[in-house]
Amino acid sequence: MPRIARQSIDQVRAAADFVEIVGHYTQLKKSGANFMGCCPFHEEKTPSFSVNPVEKVYYCFGCGEGGNLFTFVQRKEGLDFAQAVEYLADKYGVTLEYEETSARGEAERRRRERLRDLLERATVYYERRLWEGKGGAAARAYLDARGLGADVCRRFRVGYAPAGWQKLRDAAVGQGFSAQELLDAGLVVPGRRGGVYDRFRDRIVFPLADDRGRTLGFGARTLGDEKPKYLNSPETALYHKSEALFGLHEAKTAASRDDRVYVVEGYTDVLALAQAGVENVVASMGTALTEQQLKRLARLSRELFLCFDADAAGVGAMSRALTLARRLGLSLHVVRMPEGLDPADYVLSGAGAEGFRELAAHSETLLRFHVRLALEANDLTRPDGRAQAFAQLKGVLAEAATPIERDEELRTIADKLHLSEESVRYLVSAGAAACTSSRSACSPAVWRCRPKGARCLAAWTRRSSRPPRRRPPSAG
Ligand SMILES: [Zn+2]
Repeated sequence: MPRIARQSIDQVRAAADFVEIVGHYTQLKKSGANFMGCCPFHEEKTPSFSVNPVEKVYYCFGCGEGGNLFTFVQRKEGLDFAQAVEYLADKYGVTLEYEETSARGEAERRRRERLRDLLERATVYYERRLWEGKGGAAARAYLDARGLGADVCRRFRVGYAPAGWQKLRDAAVGQGFSAQELLDAGLVVPGRRGGVYDRFRDRIVFPLADDRGRTLGFGARTLGDEKPKYLNSPETALYHKSEALFGLHEAKTAASRDDRVYVVEGYTDVLALAQAGVENVVASMGTALTEQQLKRLARLSRELFLCFDADAAGVGAMSRALTLARRLGLSLHVVRMPEGLDPADYVLSGAGAEGFRELAAHSETLLRFHVRLALEANDLTRPDGRAQAFAQLKGVLAEAATPIERDEELRTIADKLHLSEESVRYLVSAGAAACTSSRSACSPAVWRCRPKGARCLAAWTRRSSRPPRRRPPSAG
């Protein structure tokens, strides 16, 4: 990659509003010439994080974390230096200039530019095939049957990849692109007897764009029963599956205005919600949110509302998301969709944007969602059921974003497990850790093989609903 020119870096530094950037992570208050707030790098209750708005540097008197505008963005967004400069340039409208460090660097830059151009042309090509001519009739009928109007489809640049083996290939070659470039863009597949053929055939295509709206790849859905139902671009120099979020570009403005983002699973969920007037929506194209996706979402808002099917598979995926989100300082909520309905079905069934927002207003935090699930999954009338539930909850509670949130859940758990709050508090602390650490679930067997004095949850829930009178001996 070519180096960013020195003067461009200076321009970005001059254009960026550092107080605004830091203010996205922590509340700042003017204090003399500087601003003070609670440190976004460590947990604290009294502000020790100082920001100098002129020099654009920061320092935390609590944890010693310090640096400048660029290191701040690098640390908080998980970017390298060049990416941090590009991120800020994009945010503050600075056009970057690059130094050509080598002929190879320049060739690589040109190659990527050609790929972008090719992907843009492919997007336009698919759009035309959808709206013009007979070929797209079945695709238009499908969208229509799903209740998705032409306006919203055009806004998201939905298209149709025609049937036939080399339609797109021929059009691109006619415009001067090579078979290799088509392969590099992920638009074609190598044929068995040489040559290439179109990857997407007789499918509705959804452009997967970056946050500036530039197409990086496509997701494609069949119209019939062919397998697979969904086919995506392969990994390319531009498209990375783990980062892809459908609708990111369109969701940006509304997300920062409403300070929240709804994350749904499918393309049509995004379209249906946007059409209804809920515009801060992106599709993750799967329930397992990746770290890269969460980082991109974190730039839009700290408040993420997950609208996934609450099936078992989704829950596992969400636990990982919870851990990641906590590290990124994100707050995750779960919007429970009515049984058997996805967000598209729901808004189109007459609920509309208002109905959807109403559901979101009753969302629960991801932590509460997990707690409820663990409590519901076990038979709490039996001691081993309670022990099992508790073993599951210990890990979940460790992921609470704040002590207040944790305490709230502790109370719920204490109530459901017929224990006092103090008992629960004690059991999630070190004493109980000793008896569950070697197994995923605490059992009397584990208890018995532990050194004398170790307290076991199973035994505890069986015997007592009172806290220990004094601190029990430490569990070896
Ligand atoms: Zn700090």
